Amino acid sequence: MSSILVVEDEWHLAQGLRFNLEEEGFTVEVAETGEAALEKIPVGAQPFDLVVLDVMLPGIDGFTVVRTLRERNQFVPVLMLTARGRSEDVLHGFASGADDYLPKPFELSILIARVNGLLRRKQWLESKPVDPTDLYEFSGRTLDFNAMEVSVADRKMPLTLMEANLMRYLIRHKGKTISRKSILEDVWGMSEDTDTRAIDNFIVRLRRYIEDDPSEPKHLLTVRGVGYRFVG
Ligand code: CA
Repeated sequence: MSSILVVEDEWHLAQGLRFNLEEEGFTVEVAETGEAALEKIPVGAQPFDLVVLDVMLPGIDGFTVVRTLRERNQFVPVLMLTARGRSEDVLHGFASGADDYLPKPFELSILIARVNGLLRRKQWLESKPVDPTDLYEFSGRTLDFNAMEVSVADRKMPLTLMEANLMRYLIRHKGKTISRKSILEDVWGMSEDTDTRAIDNFIVRLRRYIEDDPSEPKHLLTVRGVGYRFVG
């Protein structure tokens, strides 16, 4: 049974989410603030399989919560609840390390579908037998898609689900120019009205992992006016 932490200060919404997720068979805990959420996920522990995280919280906001988790190397999947029409929230959420987002107000069935989608990806990654070929090596770096991390010399940097998925997609299309639109649709299953700058934030982060000099990329190239190209 998967356990979910719901971080939401609006009592009615939090209880509604708890009730409906429990009906789906999940174990649910609720935190009303970001601070309380971080306390429930102590450094080095992984008490939850997924976090549903509201952006607007009293005290520290949802962006700070997810960024703090990622800085602590905690890579629990995070589904962010953002305000509708605020594409900057979506961009900021991805840049902070969220795996997926849902604008408020949302339909419960959609939320549950997103939760199940993230859990399936997590379980798939965890349950896959260790496959030594699921490594990609280039330029002194090793991308390990089982462990979801990048190694450079003796340094290991963990990847979020979304970073790993995007990296895998770029490698699969090595040498080809890929548009932002196809990344949005194929990697994130997002519609084309989503602001494509969300992609650019991810690319900036991936460059920090895989480029010697992220400002002079040699592997993850920008193709002006179109998108990106990965060169191994
Ligand atoms: Ca709220």
